This record gives sequence, C-alpha cells and structure tokens, in this order.
Amino acid sequence: MSGWGRTNAVTAPVLSTPDLDQIARAVTTVAERNAESPPHLRNGVIARGLGRSYNESAQNRAGLTVDMTRLCRIHSLDGDALVADVDAGVDLDRLMRAALPLGLWLPVLPGTRQVTVGGAIAHDVHGKSHHSAGSFGDQVVGLHLLVADGRILELGPDGTADDPDGALYWATVGGLGLTGIVVRARLRLQRTETAYFLADGVVTHSVDETLALHREEWSAGADYSAGWFDAVSSGSKLGRGHFTRGRLAVRDELPKALRRNPLAFDAPQYLRVPDVFPSGLGNRVTFGAMSAAYFRAGRSFENGIRNITAFLHPLDIMADWNRFYGRRGFLQYQFVLPYETLDEFAPLLREVQASGHPSFVNVLKMFGDGNRAPLSFPMPGMTVTFDFAIRPGLGDLTARLDRRVLDAGGRLYSAKDSVTSPETFHAMYPRIDEWLAVRRRIDPDGVFVSDMARRLQLV
Ligand SMILES: Cc1cc2nc3c(=O)[nH]c(=O)nc-3n(C[C@H](O)[C@H](O)[C@H](O)COP(=O)(O)OP(=O)(O)OC[C@H]3O[C@@H](n4cnc5c(N)ncnc54)[C@H](O)[C@@H]3O)c2cc1C
Repeated sequence: MSGWGRTNAVTAPVLSTPDLDQIARAVTTVAERNAESPPHLRNGVIARGLGRSYNESAQNRAGLTVDMTRLCRIHSLDGDALVADVDAGVDLDRLMRAALPLGLWLPVLPGTRQVTVGGAIAHDVHGKSHHSAGSFGDQVVGLHLLVADGRILELGPDGTADDPDGALYWATVGGLGLTGIVVRARLRLQRTETAYFLADGVVTHSVDETLALHREEWSAGADYSAGWFDAVSSGSKLGRGHFTRGRLAVRDELPKALRRNPLAFDAPQYLRVPDVFPSGLGNRVTFGAMSAAYFRAGRSFENGIRNITAFLHPLDIMADWNRFYGRRGFLQYQFVLPYETLDEFAPLLREVQASGHPSFVNVLKMFGDGNRAPLSFPMPGMTVTFDFAIRPGLGDLTARLDRRVLDAGGRLYSAKDSVTSPETFHAMYPRIDEWLAVRRRIDPDGVFVSDMARRLQLV
C-alpha cells in the first residue's frame, strides 16, 4: 500500500467491508486495546479512500487501515434541495455520472475524479473553481463521523447538537482522517444545462508575463481557472505557459452536434499505463523536449467549447499515469504563496530550474478566501505544483523550497507533501494547536493515526 507518489510503501492489514457495524467494531476494538497500552505500543486505525493522496496519509504501518470504497451507496440526489446524500466511499466519478443526467453538478472538483467523498473532506480538496466556490468543506451540508468511542456523530458547518460550535466539523475538514471516519455526507449540488465548458485560453511567454496575468483579474473573471507553466526551459522562456478559464456552458452555446445530448458524460479515458517504466526516464532532456512541445501546443482562444476531460481532468485521460516515474516514485511539491509575496515565485522557480530536478507537470492557480478549518490548505494567493521524480538530492531541494515558502508566509498542501519536517509543517499552519486540542478531546488515546500523522507529530 502506498499513496499516488508510490513512496513509503507498507504491507499492513486492511479491513475492506460494506458493513458499517463491522467498521465500528474494528474501531472500538482498537480503542479498547489502545486504552490499556502505553503510548509507544499503540497502533491505531486510519480510513483510506482511493489512495490518490500522494503521500502516507491513508496508510498505517503499525495498525489497521479501513478501505472505505465498499461503503458506497448514493442514497439520494435531490434536484429541488440541490443536495446529494452519499456514503463516504462514493467516488466523484460515479457521483458525476449519476448526477449529470439529472442536470446536476458538483461545484468543487479536484484535478481527478478518482477520489472518494471521505478523502475529499479529509484534505479539504480544491479545484479550478476555488476562487468562486471555495473548497470541498464549504460544499458539505452535513456529515456523519464515526469517532473513537464507537459513536456516530452528526456534524455540520454551523454546529449541531453533537457539536454545538462546529469545532469538530471544521477539525474534520482537512483533518487527515484523524478525528474519525466520515461514513456519510450531504453535499451541495448546482444545476447545469450542459456538461461542457465555455472557455478562454491565454499563452504567456515569460515568468513576468505569467505573474502579471495572475495579478490581473483575468483568472478571477470566470468560475474556473488554472494552467500549466514551463519549469525546465532556461532564460526568458522559464515560467512561460498556457492558462484557461471558463464556466459551465448553457445549451444554446453548444455546437449543434453536442446540443442533442448536452449532459452526456463526455470524459474519455484512452489508456492504462503499464508498470514497465524504469525510474529516471524523466530527466532534463526528456522533460525539456516535452515542455517545449507542450508549450507550442498551447493556443490563445476565446469562447471555445471544452469537454470535462479537456477542461477539468486532463490527467484522467490515462489511468495509472504515476507509473511513468517508475518504482522509485515521485513527489508533488504543492504550496501556496499569499498575494503579498507573489514576487517570491520567480526566484523560487529559478532555484527549481537550476537544481537538476526537472519537473514537467506544473500547475498554477489563484485561490480565493480560505475557510474556517484550521488545517485547510487554501488561502488568498497563488498555488503552484511541481512533480519531482525521486532521486538523490531531492530532499535538499525541498528543504530549501520549504524555507522559501515559510519565509514568504505560505504553506504546503497535506495531500501532496511526503517529506517535510514536523517543525516546518507546524510553523506553516499557525492554528495547528487549536486543531490538536479538538483532536485530543475527541480521541484522547490516539486511536486514529496514520504514517503521515506520526511523521508530522499530529498525534
Ligand atoms: C491526478 C491527481 C490530481 C489531483 N488534483 C487535485 C486538485 O486539483 N486539488 C486537490 O485538492 N487535490 C488534488 N489531488 C489530491 C486528491 O484530491 C486528494 O489527495 C484526495 O484526498 C484523495 O482522495 P482519496 O479518496 O483517494 O483519499 P486517500 O488518498 O485514500 O486518503 C486521503 C486522506 O483522507 C482520509 N480519508 C479517506 N477516506 C476517509 C473517510 N471516509 N473518513 C475520514 N478520512 C478519510 C485518509 O485517512 C487520508 O488522510 C489530486 C490527486 C491526483 C492523483
């Protein structure tokens, strides 16, 4: 078992069942054992969704992992109240396929549909719509949480009888599965006439142009926006890229051929990548050529119609694409810089370019306001990702980047980080003590624990 980055793999017991009672019994059994054991012998339990986090947040080397993907009923899709009531193991791909024929859409979708509702809550995931719709926790109406003593609590963003001030709800959003297991959630939906986007595209030719575009209201001028930039080419080409923005199209905006079935789930997947690639294929030569070719493929355009894959989920076009990095795997370095320190991006990018750790898949997007969750990642500013193959010296680079991000008042994303130190992570999340206090109140014996929680001292 490992995360999407294929690092820190473990062999450990997994409970996989659609039976909620069995899951609850497993939790209370672990809790009873923990209560009788000294802290160093406690082993705990953690929920796992589809394993799309890049790190070890959904595995537990020393105890039990609960695979939630079999608890996966869609209870209802209410087109009047605009609410979906689903088990936490339902994945967003399935939910979209069920909702679209009814003209219903999920306002927050991360860069892949292959994530469960529970996983999306636990990292408070964001999508291209962050500046207009917030993150996943902002779209949850209520949820059921199985806690360490076996109770199932009802929680919501504005508080409930089980959680009057809403503190446990907001500690669970972005809470890395460490407050309990989400078993069911009600999610906000929106109406749509089509499953297509009306999009604009812009090409930039340097890092300065890229930054200037994002300082303007360009990306905030539509419901969705994000784009790719070049982190391998040198000189003035570094940081050039192409960026798209858009909104869901209405039926009359579609070309005639698409108007016949405007809500079709038009999200093609063409191939599954075999596990045959050696580590080290992604080097300066291959990634340099791919970056140049990808840049040339970018176009400026206005009011183009794009399907779900092209506009939202280009990476879903290939299944198991993480195998391209070989068995040693890779890490995604994702951080956010506040608006006030966006100037720190160019020197940071130059450090990456000169480091000997080339990155081809680089994404840049502007965030809107954050929410009330102490461990939620988004804050007003710009988020950036690099994908680095694991090779000697990478730890030194990420430590230097961590310093830059911290000094600039930014932070790392818990769904992607697999290497940072507890000191750095705690310094980046100033409300972490507030979160730890809620966690210790609801789980005093540390029943919920993952390998990531041990690394970052979140227990
Ligand atoms: C190609 C790709 C693109 C991505 N793009 C984005 C993006 O644009 N934006 C973004 O924010 N993220 C993105 N991600 C990351 C992804 O959305 C998150 O890591 C998400 O949490 C994965 O969900 P999962 O079901 O696979 O959860 P897992 O990876 O299995 O688990 C993640 C965390 O959720 C917890 N968890 C899982 N189920 C439950 C439950 N029922 N109750 C409590 N805790 C639970 C686990 O304990 C763990 O801490 C991307 C990932 C990939 C692979």
